Amino acid sequence: MDWQDFGKWGRRAADWARDYHANLRDRPVRARTAPGHVLDRLPAAPPDAPEAMETILADFETVLMPGMTHWQHPRFFAYFPANAAPVSVLAEFYVSAIAAQCMLWQTSPAATELETRVTDWMRQAVGLPEGYIGVIQDSASTATLCAVLTMREKALEWRGNRTGLSGEPALRIYCSAEVHSSVDRAIWIAGIGEENLVRIPTRGPWRSMDPDALRDAIATDRAAGHLPAGVIACTGGTSVGGSDRLDEVLAVACDEGLMSHVDAAWAGSAMICPEFHDYWSGIELADSVVFNPHKWLGAQFDCTVHYLRSPEDLVRTLALQPEYLKTHGADGIVNYSEWSVPLGRRFRALKLWFLIRAHGLDGLRGMIRNHVAWSQALAARIAATDDFEIVTEPMLSLFSFRYAPKGATDLDALNLSLVTAINDDGRIYLTQTRVDGKLAIRFQAGAFTTTEADVVTAYDVITEMATRL
Ligand SMILES: *Cc1c(COP(=O)(O)O)cnc(C)c1O
Repeated sequence: MDWQDFGKWGRRAADWARDYHANLRDRPVRARTAPGHVLDRLPAAPPDAPEAMETILADFETVLMPGMTHWQHPRFFAYFPANAAPVSVLAEFYVSAIAAQCMLWQTSPAATELETRVTDWMRQAVGLPEGYIGVIQDSASTATLCAVLTMREKALEWRGNRTGLSGEPALRIYCSAEVHSSVDRAIWIAGIGEENLVRIPTRGPWRSMDPDALRDAIATDRAAGHLPAGVIACTGGTSVGGSDRLDEVLAVACDEGLMSHVDAAWAGSAMICPEFHDYWSGIELADSVVFNPHKWLGAQFDCTVHYLRSPEDLVRTLALQPEYLKTHGADGIVNYSEWSVPLGRRFRALKLWFLIRAHGLDGLRGMIRNHVAWSQALAARIAATDDFEIVTEPMLSLFSFRYAPKGATDLDALNLSLVTAINDDGRIYLTQTRVDGKLAIRFQAGAFTTTEADVVTAYDVITEMATRL
């Protein structure tokens, strides 16, 4: 294919996308593929001769599409949403066509300056105070890694990158058990070691770190000759939405002179609605904040916004400047590749710009408010249904429940069978988690195209499958 042919195939892809989305509701949400089935249908060796586009597309339809789980399905209630608003898909199409490598300001000034502008739009939209500077990362995991590396370097007075960690005291990082596994990974990769990730007990319905326990843990570590380096808090933990009371927890980090990072990967998008700001009370004390517009907000994956109080610390941690990357004499310009682990950078700002302009913050707020209201209504209905119990109350649009008929003995096994039966049925898709050792079924509403009727269908499927067990 060359660019002459591209118009024809591009139009066909756009029509395909329109039809795919028009009929998505009729497909089972989760793929029904047996392991190895797709692999077996793919030739083991690559073709030597070029193949016709028609043949490739036919295989795409018949071999691959049946093996896809439909994340944009209106009844995808599993994990977290990964919305791709049509306008952001379109932006990605333009980005791929231009295919600029946006590592330095001079490698595409517009990409850098748009990133500066739209991350600041997002900052205002979620109510972060002035003074936070944003950058777009490829994932929340990367942003958390960047924060942990910065914690390490600050605590070691910038020796770590040069001399390594041997001979240094144990660096200690504090979080609750509600944080995402990307925190563990960041600790491993940063060379800090899992044993130095200190889990602070939580309390209350928010599952927030106990600030006194945090203070005590830091004091104990200092007395033992360890080196406390940072506190990682979360808003909207992955399992059931556990959220630290930031005013309490970040205050301890400030008092102790420790850098703090807040992972709001999923819930951060909801902060465009002022009525949810209780969850962010105290956010202004954070040194680093991350959330994913690629989850709830509709910016096609991948698009993570990362806000920093002092980007200089991150740049001091990550920037190396070989001669060929220096942009001499260009004061006041930003080279975002110094703010992230990979050198290469895609032009991710464009989809945020398209998205925010095409929907307006009001359009996005309306969607999020509906999801929260419908989820809470479903939780209330399940709570009022015989033999069901709510395990964790809704945090925004996420809650967990379980089926607990009187006399049942192994509720974990029963609920695992229920979630399997629900997902095999195909009308909706849910995932399970463990809450205080008990198996619970999670529900979250967050897809762009979900309607109230879809959430009502979820109730019907859940109760129907439970009676059939
Ligand atoms: C989804 C999620 C992550 C991981 O996000 P990636 O962008 O996939 O790395 C981290 N933390 C929380 C709370 C999440 O919900």
